[in-house]
Amino acid sequence: MSMESTDRALILKTGKFREHDVWVRFLSASRGVQTAFAFGGSRSRRRFGGCLEPFSQVVFKVGSNKTGTYQVLSEGSLVKSFNGVRGDHRKMGLAANCLKFVDSIKLDTDSARNIYELLLDTLKVIDEKEPDDFFPLLFRAKVAFEQGFRPDFTICSQCGKPLFGNHPSGFDVEKGTVRCNECDFGAKGLPVGSSTLRMLSWIQDTGPSNWTSLEVPSDVRGECFKVMDRFMAYHLGLVWDESGYRRV
Ligand SMILES: [Zn+2]
Repeated sequence: MSMESTDRALILKTGKFREHDVWVRFLSASRGVQTAFAFGGSRSRRRFGGCLEPFSQVVFKVGSNKTGTYQVLSEGSLVKSFNGVRGDHRKMGLAANCLKFVDSIKLDTDSARNIYELLLDTLKVIDEKEPDDFFPLLFRAKVAFEQGFRPDFTICSQCGKPLFGNHPSGFDVEKGTVRCNECDFGAKGLPVGSSTLRMLSWIQDTGPSNWTSLEVPSDVRGECFKVMDRFMAYHLGLVWDESGYRRV
C-alpha cells in the first residue's frame, strides 16, 4: 500500500473509463488542479457516496499506484453538494464556466489555497443567491488578481495622480499598469473609463458574496470584459470563445 494523504477538494470534472472506474479532475486546496482514478468508483456508495460529481465539495484519501505513475482515490466523503446549482440550468452554466476556467489556467501551488476558497465561496453564492451573467467574469478577474497579476487601478503609474477623473485612462496590458489621460498622451494604452477602473479595483478588494448586490451599467460591463479578456489572454495565456477556454 502506498502512502496516502487527505485532500480537501472541489470536483471539476469526472468521467467513466471502464465499466465501474471513474477519472476525477479536482481542485485540491493544497495542491491545485489534480487528476486521479477512483477504481470501482461508480458502484461503491460506501467508499464514494455522492463524491464523484461536479459541484461537490469533498475530502479524498489519495495515494498512488505501485509505480507512482498515477494517483488513486481510495475513498471520499462528501462535505457539501450544491443542489441549488444542480437543479437550475442557468446556475449550472454560471458554475460550469467558473470550473472550466480553473481547469484551464496554470495555477501556481502558492495560490491553490486562495483559489480553492474563492471557488468555494463562488459556488456557495451561485447556489444560494441569484447572480447575473456577469458573475463569472468577476470570478475570472479575481482569479487573475489572486495569481499575482494585480494592477493598481487607483493611481497613475507614472505621475501618481488619482485616476478617478472624467477622462479615460490608458491601461498598459503587458505591464499591467494604468496611466492617467495626460501621461498616456500618444501612447498605446487601452482606453478605460473611471467607472470601469473603480469596478476592477473593487473586485480586488471584495469577494463573491459582495458581487450580487451590484448593478453594473452595460457600457461598464462591456469595458470590463474587454479589458480583462485582453489582460488574461496576455498574462494567463487564455482566451474565451463559445467552446470554452483556449490556450494561446
Ligand atoms: Zn499621470
